[in-house]
Amino acid sequence: MDVSPISCFLDESEFRPRDTCQRCGFRSPTIFACGAAVAETPEQRDRFEYLYREFLRETLNSPPVRNHASTRERLTKDGFHMASDDQALKGNFLSFLERDPGLKFHYRCARVVGHRASDDKKRIYAILHNGLTSTIIKRYKKASVIEFSFEEFTGLNHLFSRIVDFSVDRQIAGGDDCPTVNTSVVKKLDSGISSAVDYCILSCSRLIQIHDARSHEARCAKNPDPSTHHSNLTIKHLRDFAGDSTIDYDAWQLRDFANLQASLSSTLEIKLDPGVLLGT
Ligand SMILES: [Zn+2]
Repeated sequence: MDVSPISCFLDESEFRPRDTCQRCGFRSPTIFACGAAVAETPEQRDRFEYLYREFLRETLNSPPVRNHASTRERLTKDGFHMASDDQALKGNFLSFLERDPGLKFHYRCARVVGHRASDDKKRIYAILHNGLTSTIIKRYKKASVIEFSFEEFTGLNHLFSRIVDFSVDRQIAGGDDCPTVNTSVVKKLDSGISSAVDYCILSCSRLIQIHDARSHEARCAKNPDPSTHHSNLTIKHLRDFAGDSTIDYDAWQLRDFANLQASLSSTLEIKLDPGVLLGT
């Protein structure tokens, strides 16, 4: 029996679109998302970490970064972070991930209209992480050990073990095999994989936002009544959307997603029960 552990690194983030429809004022929903990167063997994980360190070293030594103290400092301290990296850094890191990351990415999101208080956000992330860990346990049910590492997030740190236990209990209750699971909370930059997950989450969320804005545009042009505007996206359509050659303008969100999609193993939008947002 294979006893080498599967490593799974998880993170979450919120993406709040700023653009509003010129015609009716519609704003695309906020996207709450969780992502996971799985290294199926310790060798894959070590290899990724090695390649990442090499890539980071090369980047820090490249002229545009070498001569830019604040970028150097940020990269050294936080690693690559899609929301902060400039276009050139972002393009380079996405190409690095596209070449051969040896990681499998998973993405879950919920689209929510309006502002949410922190307790709501915690509940949403707990549901999304539960969906992610359940999928991963199911997918690797024959493995011996899965190590779940969550990036630290005040307010959720004490819940991560319970979220995973809940997924384990459900797997066992279903009468299925279940690996031993270990859960830990890690700091950003304990691993280069944290940057990879960050990019996975934001690339998918931004693509969804573009999709929402576009489907709104199409609807709004026909019927400028905001109450009727709901786009009903399932994320499995994203690949088709990103690969649609008929799209008539140059959207970098599509290219960013295209760089990652070969490594995407699962994506899913989770429809939240209204009770989740009512504090029940
Ligand atoms: Zn509109």
